[in-house]
Amino acid sequence: MAGVRVAGELLRREPGARVTVLGAEPGVAYNRTLLTDLLAGSVGEPDLELVGEVPEQARVWSGTAAVGVDRTRRVVVDSRGGVHGYDVLVLATGAAAQVPGIAGLRGAGGALRRNVAVLQSLADCRRIVELARPGARAVVVGGGLLGLEVARALVARGLGVRVLHGAGVVMNRQLDAGASAVLVDQLAGLGVSVELDCQVVAATADADAAGDGVSGVELADGRRVECDLLVVACGTRPETGLARAAGLPVDVGVLVGEGMVTADPRVYAIGDCAQTDGVVTGLVAEAWEHARIAADAIAGPAPDDAETGPLGDSADRDRGGRASGARVSAPTRLKAEGVELTVMGASNAPDGPGVVTFADRERGLYRRIVLREGRIAGATVLGGEPSDALAVLEHYSSRSPVTREQAALLLRPAEAASGADRAAPVDAPSAPTAVAGLDRGVVVCYCNDVSCGRILDARDAGADTVAAIARRTRATTGCGICRSKVQALLTAGQPVTAPA
Ligand SMILES: Cc1cc2nc3c(=O)[nH]c(=O)nc-3n(C[C@H](O)[C@H](O)[C@H](O)COP(=O)(O)OP(=O)(O)OC[C@H]3O[C@@H](n4cnc5c(N)ncnc54)[C@H](O)[C@@H]3O)c2cc1C
Repeated sequence: MAGVRVAGELLRREPGARVTVLGAEPGVAYNRTLLTDLLAGSVGEPDLELVGEVPEQARVWSGTAAVGVDRTRRVVVDSRGGVHGYDVLVLATGAAAQVPGIAGLRGAGGALRRNVAVLQSLADCRRIVELARPGARAVVVGGGLLGLEVARALVARGLGVRVLHGAGVVMNRQLDAGASAVLVDQLAGLGVSVELDCQVVAATADADAAGDGVSGVELADGRRVECDLLVVACGTRPETGLARAAGLPVDVGVLVGEGMVTADPRVYAIGDCAQTDGVVTGLVAEAWEHARIAADAIAGPAPDDAETGPLGDSADRDRGGRASGARVSAPTRLKAEGVELTVMGASNAPDGPGVVTFADRERGLYRRIVLREGRIAGATVLGGEPSDALAVLEHYSSRSPVTREQAALLLRPAEAASGADRAAPVDAPSAPTAVAGLDRGVVVCYCNDVSCGRILDARDAGADTVAAIARRTRATTGCGICRSKVQALLTAGQPVTAPA
């Protein structure tokens, strides 16, 4: 996703440039973030198209991996024997699924066994769909974001699903124990059973398991869990082999500095394979921001960025061209039908005076706001309506001041909050009013850093459908969290406040 974006960004700046894209996967680039929706059957393969993203002027070699880089001669050798000279090389090799050293997952040749899968690519997704027969038993190893999305998707396909998770909290990078407990309840209600603190030590093959498959897994406590399909969702690791072999410094990811440049001034690294300021990302918002920063560094600011500023719409973006600027990190939404969960920023910071929570386990609600210096530094909004997260999101992204009392009101589910407001004395604190309004400065599409104002301008210039807004601004073309907000903006008639 970062590779085609940087190709487009470069050609926007230098229409005459010769840009070559080498992609190991067959076919054109696609929206990887929708793979779990594809697995669930809620979208089809055509919906994964990255509309307008693959530049026509670029020479795209699909199904062709870069297998070597000679930095002295400035050439890349590909898997078909082709040799491509370069003035500037951008590595956008992404990440690979991490497969832990559990005995028995791989067959004799080192490949995953017949009914063991990961989900990183379209090919992986097609493979899982083939293996996912209704009525079959699936085990998902790993209860992070991806594992839970996969589990919910498999239930939608009619499988019985058990998630085996090593930590005591699901989505432990994002959630605290309270949120985890509510989420596990909700998933159970949807047919996904989750076991916590559970170490898988081996995959087992029985004589009657068809072909080269596994028939279950063994746990550290000696129990055995039978399955017909085993999906491993244990995180990803940056794909750094090409960079390492080319002698570029690599830590977890390929090390880059300002402008996404590696130790070689002619070589850049962006997206999931890059490491900036000690951080590797894994979100498309970051990958696309890297692409723009690299394109700026290589070819200067894009000519038509005058309206939005050279670095997108975020008012307080670090102007130094660094990837890890002051912009808030993109929120994440669990793509699991029947569960409403949005997390943002430092959502699972430890409890303390700046942390405000609201929990109603019986109703499947858990909300948490982490305040730092009077602003929302992170939040969890679990349960309720999809719109419940919007108010919190707007404050988070605009960094507007929020008191503890206001945070407590923001956390109430919509219908409870309106009841509370009616009953509240006149001098009681109220949730800040900007949340319901249309502040032009608020970021709506985090993946592409598109503000409310830019969407309204596109609408007023004639873009009257979500697809037209997407073509004009790119909003909604990433993870899709913002689709309902963009839809609402299309019909919104209220006056719009100027950015603060
Ligand atoms: C199932 C799933 C769901 C996701 N959901 C979300 C989400 O909701 N929100 C979000 O923000 N992010 C999500 N992500 C993460 C997001 O997709 C990535 O952050 C994004 O794709 C990163 O873009 P990239 O270009 O760095 O890597 P990728 O999109 O992974 O692209 C890297 C490409 O490089 C190719 N490649 C590798 N080595 C070579 C080589 N030597 N030669 C040629 N080609 C090579 C790979 O085959 C791959 O096609 C999800 C990821 C997955 C797998």
